[in-house]
Amino acid sequence: MIDPTPERLPLLASKAKKEHMELLKRLKRLPDTKVDELFRNAHSNIDWDNDCLSCANCCKSISPIVIDRDIDRIAARLRMKPSELVDKYLVLDSDGDYVFRTQPCPFLLPDNYCTIYEDRPRACREYPHTDRKRIKGIFNLTLKNALVCPAVYNVLKEIKGEVG
Ligand code: SF4
Ligand code: SF4
Repeated sequence: MIDPTPERLPLLASKAKKEHMELLKRLKRLPDTKVDELFRNAHSNIDWDNDCLSCANCCKSISPIVIDRDIDRIAARLRMKPSELVDKYLVLDSDGDYVFRTQPCPFLLPDNYCTIYEDRPRACREYPHTDRKRIKGIFNLTLKNALVCPAVYNVLKEIKGEVG
């Protein structure tokens, strides 16, 4: 079971928000390569397979952006036309990107498995982006993700332990 659980995360992450902001502000002063290394190391210490299966908070509470290539791939898997997939499952958000109409995600099963796992949107594969190069460029997003994703919370906690 992931620790903190998705139920405990909002309170813990809200309390730690100021600390997270200060940490990211300090990290901004370090070289990109050093910051990427800190994140990559902390990211690799997460047991993603087991932790995500016991969590699925991202799939339950936020939607990935679904790009055209995702739409074509998922539609092919479901033997639907891309336009049918759009009508049934997607909606345009305020930035003009397709996102899932409903949360939890329509492809999430009660045991937290994803029914389209091999063909899931690219944004699902990359979430929560803690191993991304030049991560400093998405610090605002990382801060937001720490409120949703226990793994991001733990990555920041580990980095804080490293840099003091
Ligand atoms: S990526 Fe984060 S929020 Fe999503 S299932 Fe894994 S630990 Fe939970
Ligand atoms: S497509 Fe799969 S991985 Fe992506 S949000 Fe839905 S259930 Fe989660």
